[in-house]
Amino acid sequence: MKLVRSPRAMASLAARWRARGLSVGFVPTMGALHAAHRSLLRRARRENDRLVVSVFVNPAQFGPKEDFARYPRPFRRDAAACRAERTDALYHPAPGAIYPPGYGSFVEVPGLGAPLCGRFRPGHFRGVATVVLKLLESVRPDRLYLGEKDYQQLLVLRRMARDLGLPVRVVGCPTIRASDGLALSSRNAYLSPEERARAPRLYGALRAGAAEAKRRGATPASVRRRMRRALGIPGARVDYLEIVDAESLARPARLKGKLRLLGAVRIGNTRLIDNLGLLV
Ligand code: AMP
Repeated sequence: MKLVRSPRAMASLAARWRARGLSVGFVPTMGALHAAHRSLLRRARRENDRLVVSVFVNPAQFGPKEDFARYPRPFRRDAAACRAERTDALYHPAPGAIYPPGYGSFVEVPGLGAPLCGRFRPGHFRGVATVVLKLLESVRPDRLYLGEKDYQQLLVLRRMARDLGLPVRVVGCPTIRASDGLALSSRNAYLSPEERARAPRLYGALRAGAAEAKRRGATPASVRRRMRRALGIPGARVDYLEIVDAESLARPARLKGKLRLLGAVRIGNTRLIDNLGLLV
């Protein structure tokens, strides 16, 4: 496995592969890799001749009061995980290599980036879209692997790729959960044992919403109410528990078609998100 630190070195390595006709799969991450990341790596490994994984804690996607400074950075463990999944290149640029002094260009996907997490994390998706575009520009992969766990992010990046005509196929991968239903996340490490015990109720609330949506006479409003009632985590703050159109993220007038239930809650100092697909 090659450890690559600069955009230029990454670009030339990937260009050599492409010149030999090898396909490249790319998994961007912020590190602190867990079993869900590894499932993305395995899928990308299977479907491509070469696998590139990036580990970059992207300052541009954190708000001023968010957890950028304390975000876990167990780099040696991450490198070992990448090696174990037969990664060809681990791309780990320094912040200054991505955002040199005077940096001033950003990508906006205002429609899909505005609701839900966009309301509670201003600038977040702009930071995500910008860094992923920059990473793609160096790696130029055939396929980009993203988790459905960050569903809004997946839609934002798909739209960016389509709108900008990027020659990459975006592959959405299913959410990986702990046995009690909690979606795996690097941020779960912040939870105290008591908080961890309550955290699966977010998924429980989404499932209760899905059950309500299938009930005769249910409405989008009754689904929202049902999710709020089901959550019941003492001391949790709900950013949102929503039912939206799975493609536009708009609130539906009726329960019909491809919908998505999405939730974001804060338990103590930890913000958790999750979502669930629904066909009615
Ligand atoms: P992150 O390191 O949190 O930026 O995540 C890197 C990639 O892994 C993103 O595409 C995430 O959506 C994906 N990912 C993180 N957690 C999960 C999960 N529990 N299930 C599926 N994909 C995930």
